[in-house]
Amino acid sequence: MNGPYDIIDGRFRELILANVSLRRLSAGHLWTEGPVWFAAHQCLLFSDIPRQKIYRWMCDGTVNVFRDHSNFCNGNSQDREGRLISCQHGTRSVTRTEHNGLITTLADQFDGKPLNSPNDVVVKSDGSIWFTDPTYGILSNYEGYKATPEQHHRHVFRLDPETKQLCPVVRDFIQPNGLAFSCDEKRLYIAESGSSHDDKVPAVIRVYDVRADKSLENGRDFATLDQGLPDGFRVDCYDNVWTSAADGVHCFDPDGVLLGKILVPETVSNLTFGGPRGNELLITATTSVYAIHVNTAAANSVVAVG
Ligand code: MG
Repeated sequence: MNGPYDIIDGRFRELILANVSLRRLSAGHLWTEGPVWFAAHQCLLFSDIPRQKIYRWMCDGTVNVFRDHSNFCNGNSQDREGRLISCQHGTRSVTRTEHNGLITTLADQFDGKPLNSPNDVVVKSDGSIWFTDPTYGILSNYEGYKATPEQHHRHVFRLDPETKQLCPVVRDFIQPNGLAFSCDEKRLYIAESGSSHDDKVPAVIRVYDVRADKSLENGRDFATLDQGLPDGFRVDCYDNVWTSAADGVHCFDPDGVLLGKILVPETVSNLTFGGPRGNELLITATTSVYAIHVNTAAANSVVAVG
């Protein structure tokens, strides 16, 4: 099959398309992250962390600034009401952009001390907000403001957006990064990206079972990357895991078997499914944003037909 692929398992052919190309949607950035597709507005929002901007890519190909002075915004998601949920390094907080444009701080401290630097975020179908809190945004003045961590752990938190109560669900990561639920939300995947600063840390995505009380149990390794480290990732409607890596996007089946790769010429930081018909992989990769049509779609998505 032609295209920018490395097919490792024949099943990968059913998830990709022939005669499609990797298109560059936007270029000239410093470090792109946080892609989130807004179907209602037919646009992609993504962060350029060092430039402190959130950009908006429209289906007609135009790119403009959605938010200037983004406080070193990193990961983005949307809640069940279609509101933007963002992780901000500069304020060490998770915020929600209301329908009227005002920005609400949902969390900026735990145990009376500032968070490290919220990195990536996902919203469960019950409205709870789950995010990771590694230290990347306070390690230097490039992606935030250099500071000494005041948290004892690099937690993964569950946030109740009504009460704003924070509950740590995992505390044994070196640097937790991207996270995503399985289609039935009975499993939560979390990326360990601690190998960015310590070669001895394995470049793994771990998976946990989600209990009825929304605590996690039975943590185990799901998959290990052979190129680079896992940052952001997404689960598709067949429960495959599509993750960022140094050489592109790696696709793992629900048992953690590597099916194949979409090769990208820059280190990938994150990705999401979107586009007008929901069947495009939208990829943030270092200085650029790329797109490629695929034969799958986001978990729990309703793909447009006709
Ligand atoms: Mg990240």
